[in-house]
Amino acid sequence: MSFSVSSHEELQAIMNVTVESLAGFCGLTGGEDQQADYRSLMQQLGILQTRPMALQKKIHNEFAAKYLPALMSVYRESSGPLNAAMTMLNVISYTAYFVRFQRSSAGSDLAAIQAHRTAIDPASTLLDIDTIGEITQFLGTLLLLQGTSGITEDDKKALLSKMNKWKNIYRGTGRVAEKASERCNALLARKSGLPAGYKDVKDHIEQVVEQCGAEGCSRRQQTSGSELMQCARCKSALYCGTAHQKQAWPSHKSTCFAPTF
Ligand SMILES: [Zn+2]
Ligand SMILES: [Zn+2]
Repeated sequence: MSFSVSSHEELQAIMNVTVESLAGFCGLTGGEDQQADYRSLMQQLGILQTRPMALQKKIHNEFAAKYLPALMSVYRESSGPLNAAMTMLNVISYTAYFVRFQRSSAGSDLAAIQAHRTAIDPASTLLDIDTIGEITQFLGTLLLLQGTSGITEDDKKALLSKMNKWKNIYRGTGRVAEKASERCNALLARKSGLPAGYKDVKDHIEQVVEQCGAEGCSRRQQTSGSELMQCARCKSALYCGTAHQKQAWPSHKSTCFAPTF
């Protein structure tokens, strides 16, 4: 009897996806002894994916604004190419908060760390296609944003051989692992600069922290002549002027949070 009561409560708890519940399962709250709970985190992220897009974005952005520094510390202490902190970083990697954070000194070595963990992981060949998809997707984003200059030659060599292998194994599957291993391979193989077509992808990811946030306005930080103004609250959205800031507010307000960094 007590078993069914507690499992019912557990089920209720899993169904209720909040910024705080995700932080708990990542091992960020609950004190010194708090451990990450990868299985519960994956369940909650799966449930969140079935919710309206606006709610997903709100939770991802609020989580990023509040917990990125703490998540980065847990990530540093973790090991292997796949763990709870890495999965959560990957999920929020599209947010303006993440793009801004990885440019700061606190997050500037993300690509090098993830590259090293992926390079030296002996179990990589035994992983399934979805796991490899997640690992290569996250590494691809980091290589695109941070480049390859922080990665050692040994790690590059080991990674290139893995990416080549995965690229060939997953060719034609149409799964994340196919495109993502191709992306990692192309970015690692390049001695300098970005391979053809990759600048647009990078621009698209960085647009959230470089371009005016009003719909249809393409003014960017480096080409606008004058500095774009920053949203005072989130320090992550930019506007070419108060008119566009006002225009964007109805859609921006649900992802605008005061960051802890
Ligand atoms: Zn504008
Ligand atoms: Zn804002």
